[in-house]
Amino acid sequence: MGLEDRVLAEVDRVLGEAVDFCRELVRVPTVNPPGAEYARCAELIGSRLARLGYEVCYVPAEGLPEHSADYPRLNVVGGLDSGRPGPTVHFNGHLDVVPPGTGWTRPPFEAALEDGRIYGRGAADMKAGIAAMVYAVEALRRAGYPVRGRLEQSATVDEESGGFAGVAYLCRRGIIRSGRTDYVVITEPLDPDRVCIGHRGVYWFEVTVRGRVAHGSMPHLGVNAIEVMGLFIERLRRELKPRLAGRRTNLPVVPEPARHPTLNVNGIVGGQADTAWRPTPCVADECRAVFDRRFIPEEQAAEVRREVEDILRELRAEVAGFDYEWRDLMVVEPVVTDPGSPLVRAFARAVGQVYGYPAALVASPGTYDHKHVRRLGGVEHCIAYGPGRLQLAHQPDEHVEIEDLRRAIGVMALGLINLWAQE
Ligand SMILES: [Zn+2]
Repeated sequence: MGLEDRVLAEVDRVLGEAVDFCRELVRVPTVNPPGAEYARCAELIGSRLARLGYEVCYVPAEGLPEHSADYPRLNVVGGLDSGRPGPTVHFNGHLDVVPPGTGWTRPPFEAALEDGRIYGRGAADMKAGIAAMVYAVEALRRAGYPVRGRLEQSATVDEESGGFAGVAYLCRRGIIRSGRTDYVVITEPLDPDRVCIGHRGVYWFEVTVRGRVAHGSMPHLGVNAIEVMGLFIERLRRELKPRLAGRRTNLPVVPEPARHPTLNVNGIVGGQADTAWRPTPCVADECRAVFDRRFIPEEQAAEVRREVEDILRELRAEVAGFDYEWRDLMVVEPVVTDPGSPLVRAFARAVGQVYGYPAALVASPGTYDHKHVRRLGGVEHCIAYGPGRLQLAHQPDEHVEIEDLRRAIGVMALGLINLWAQE
């Protein structure tokens, strides 16, 4: 039996354990917000890693306001020195999940096993990824393969809310940093036959329009801020959106409609209604909206902002009596790993070995922790690869196929072998 087959046979043998581990993780409802049960989940992963022979350390996000007594932000990192020369490969997964939302036909935190699938919030995004990364290394070790260099596994918090107490914190503490960490694999769900090399940028901003209050029966005496905001949103739809649709990135973003820059209104509040939503008979003198502009590497962040604000400025020149305030909430530049990186090549080759066809290199429409690895950690070689399917993330009846889990574990194990062979 060849080496490859020996490792893949071992993957089949560890699969049951990986499935059980994934289900245990799904049963801990690490819902973010608010960041529930993080410590219990981190400890579950830490004790598993310790049992498998890793040295384990816990990294609470001390000094950050979101690390509170009620909702501690606890990260866990396991390290395994092989005693043989080789690179440091760091696997990372986030342990938080988004709230379950509505529309489920199965309980979201019971990890039901049905028709070869594990159902639950976080099954795909991304507790299956955490189980896969742990058991990929196990498959190699149990197959008697001489693993090389240093292997690290971390499970981190708050990816769904920006990752500042999670991967960013590990980078700031020097746990993930260039010079120490050679390669980072984030096991996010981007489909198990694809290798993700980066993501688009984000610009979140808030616009507050201020008009003039008046009695609701005499609207001519006021300036209605909600109507002004309506005009602004309409112009974005009519003028900006077609322009964005006309731009296309060379980054292989999936799904296809996200290969352009996009704009979304994430939320809006306005008018003089009290908290119980009892409107008062007044012309709305204030309206506030949050916008989510996703941009491509071919665009500049400053230009992205200017072209939206220009539209609002034009509107102010035409409509009298309103003012506005502009607030940047978040700017994340796009990131991309060179497709010629040894890490990309090693995993793309492994996909071919397991699936029998070449891996698609893709990029994510939204950001994930890659940005911190690159910008704060300075690590150049970072990919996302995991068992989950992208379109199931954050959906009701989220699930992971056990067959996808099996193949992804195989890809990760062979990916490591390919990577070591290139060193
Ligand atoms: Zn995720």
